[in-house]
Amino acid sequence: MTGDIPPSADPNRLPEIGLAVAGRGGGLDDLRSLAARCRGCDLWERATQTVFGEGSSDARVMLVGEQPGDQEDLAGHPFVGPAGKVLDRALAEAGIDREQAFVTNVVKHFKWRPSGKRRLHERPNARQVRACRPWLDAELSVVRPAALVLLGATAAKSIVGPDVRVSDAAEPIESDLAPLVLATIHPSAVLRSVDSEAREATFRRLVGDLHLIADWMRSTGSADLDPATPPTPGSPP
Ligand code: SF4
Repeated sequence: MTGDIPPSADPNRLPEIGLAVAGRGGGLDDLRSLAARCRGCDLWERATQTVFGEGSSDARVMLVGEQPGDQEDLAGHPFVGPAGKVLDRALAEAGIDREQAFVTNVVKHFKWRPSGKRRLHERPNARQVRACRPWLDAELSVVRPAALVLLGATAAKSIVGPDVRVSDAAEPIESDLAPLVLATIHPSAVLRSVDSEAREATFRRLVGDLHLIADWMRSTGSADLDPATPPTPGSPP
């Protein structure tokens, strides 16, 4: 499918080209190879590589964070660093198999600033988010998830609008991006908690919101979930 995209295609236009490829039936591998050359904004300049979304095109749940972190940038895979490990635990507790989920980010390159030998995360600006949006739309059009989970305020606001709040308990968001759209905290919020008590409470909040997804998918028959995981107390059988 990417064979008809010449290697000389303007790398600044690859987000739009990628979205068009998805519209013509291109798959995730096509998109990933195009995104690897993307120069749609300036974030590629200081990053190691593009970190495209990962998971099956049949995934029923898509989870979207803000951007790859330091370890993701080096590994080339999303959610493999400390926040990714928190997400793995939360998904497991909620009965959602990460292997059955598609994980990605609003922007596909790591934005950072130096601090001594460390690379500190910097929030992508509106122009960078806008430039990268066609890649997310392309992922959505290929995967067509039943449930879309927005992780953290930056992802939620950039995808569904500035009024969305992640500080409140998650409620379905009206959106045509997926049958169920929910916003919750980013797993890195667990790591930033001030003490172990706050960390546990924040983790429970994340698990609780993911449980809502699992319960909804179970009740609508949208996915094969881990049958060993009981539904949230009070949820429909
Ligand atoms: S952040 Fe997105 S738009 Fe910008 S260069 Fe990377 S892949 Fe392209």
